[in-house]
Amino acid sequence: MTAHPSDNFLYQTESVRQPINWPLAGASLKSAFSDQAVKRHTRLADLTGQAEHMRECARRGHQSQLANALDRLLHAIQRERISPSEDFSRIDRLIRHVDRIIQNDVSMMEHGSVPLALLLSEHEPSEVLLDALNRYGYISRTLHPEIVNNDQLKSFAEQAELIIVISNGEESASLVRTPLEALGDFIKNRFSLLISSQDSFSYRAAAVKMGMTHFLTEPLDINRLNSILQSSRILDDEKKPIQVLMIDDMITAGVYWGKHFQQQNIIFRFESKPEQAYRSAIEIVPDIILLDLYMPEIDGVDLAKIFREHPLLHDVPILFMSTEEDDRCRMEAKMQGGDDFLNKTIPIDDLLKLVRYRALRYRQSSAEKRSDSLTGLMNHNAIKDLIDAEIDRANRQDQNLTVALLDIDHFKKVNDVYGHQAGDIVIRKLSNLLNTRLRRYDGVGRYGGEEFMIVLPNTDETTAAHLINRLRIHFGQTSVAIGDNQSILCTFSAGIASFPRHSDMSSLIEAADQNLYIAKKNGRNRVACDQFERNR
Ligand code: GH3
Ligand code: MG
Ligand code: MG
Repeated sequence: MTAHPSDNFLYQTESVRQPINWPLAGASLKSAFSDQAVKRHTRLADLTGQAEHMRECARRGHQSQLANALDRLLHAIQRERISPSEDFSRIDRLIRHVDRIIQNDVSMMEHGSVPLALLLSEHEPSEVLLDALNRYGYISRTLHPEIVNNDQLKSFAEQAELIIVISNGEESASLVRTPLEALGDFIKNRFSLLISSQDSFSYRAAAVKMGMTHFLTEPLDINRLNSILQSSRILDDEKKPIQVLMIDDMITAGVYWGKHFQQQNIIFRFESKPEQAYRSAIEIVPDIILLDLYMPEIDGVDLAKIFREHPLLHDVPILFMSTEEDDRCRMEAKMQGGDDFLNKTIPIDDLLKLVRYRALRYRQSSAEKRSDSLTGLMNHNAIKDLIDAEIDRANRQDQNLTVALLDIDHFKKVNDVYGHQAGDIVIRKLSNLLNTRLRRYDGVGRYGGEEFMIVLPNTDETTAAHLINRLRIHFGQTSVAIGDNQSILCTFSAGIASFPRHSDMSSLIEAADQNLYIAKKNGRNRVACDQFERNR
């Protein structure tokens, strides 16, 4: 069978042998439920059979949201079978919920709006990896390298934005090599990651040879994983193309290079005056600076020193450009704060490649510095910077801005009773919930141990309180699986504060913290803001 690539999305790993048509499965579930002619007992048995099969497929395909929804449905059916209540409204709701997820998945696939991560693995990928993929907006599909045939592999790879190969040990390195060879150029043109249980130089060399762009070992370093995933999205993210600032006293240089950069979807800013260049650099914070070595007003080396003094520009890569042939001069320039030295005669394609590479490396390392290693959310400093920037914007655009500080209730008890690892799972669960439930332009950060900061631009206090309260209710009802077939329920309290009532960062944060304190004092599991308190 050679499936059409877009059909393939709807099929699971298992689809190789037994395809499932999700829309049909969803419809069939609904009709089995509403078929009044069939006896109650048979109906429930039929539903169980269908839902179990679907859950199995969803699990294999790592459609975790769907698998969870089916899990809940199966629980509800099971309960009804054991102790009949004749109230089918919960089952009805859950079936409709399952159907909605299917419709949603299908329509997202059809519109190509969801990036696909293709995983080649002999065993179930770890939850940590799947969570991280989910967080960065990927839908993941896992193929077993032994079962899959080349055509199927290629049709998936064609659609994938990211290819991940998971291998445990030398033996399976050869197992994955065959499909990788079949993938050939697909790997080379894509972001790819080899996750291996072994770390050796020869292994790394083999990965590079195969064309893999990144390499990680088990157990996964979440910080690294996050930054890789983040950068895999950055380059393709239309909203965030690479920004280049070029500074050269020859205006014709700007015209010439600018044309080439713009063709590559790179934002190109050109400045010929040093002072204006400095101002532009602070304003746009480019991903890379191309700096002429010799300029009449100030030379490039000195200008680079000025850039390096500014906190926003401290780490931005600076490439000097000149026709200077003298090696000593070039060396000097590098030692004075430049990252590299290019001859102005460099072929345009080489320059474009170099700029992309450097910019990506830079974004990756700054993302790493600004993200929290347990959750992949923004860390304390990053979320504070965001609040600062959003206050600035709210000021300029005369808009509201609300922040919320969340703190998990009695979290110490979770650690004490179930262990630190269980605590970590709860933290990750809440972070995933916040990530998936908030809007794309809202900010979420891990402010401290079990504290989270949410930044809601253009949102007033009342709206924010409703929103956070809904999250609170949802989280309080979500049982968190902590291993050994155990699951627990947790709650959080939240304090909310808004701009312009609190007009600068420290008073905004302090007010949110005060309100959090009030929420805790009044019994926890509630949301407090300056105007009122919510616990329903
Ligand atoms: P309250 O309802 O008043 O917030 O009570 P609490 O127990 O949640 O508050 P407290 O601040 O006393 O305890 C927070 C605990 O969170 C203490 C610390 O050991 C734990 N913690 C902090 N960071 C982490 C983490 O990364 N992982 C885990 N598992 N626990 C953490
Ligand atoms: Mg706390
Ligand atoms: Mg707490």
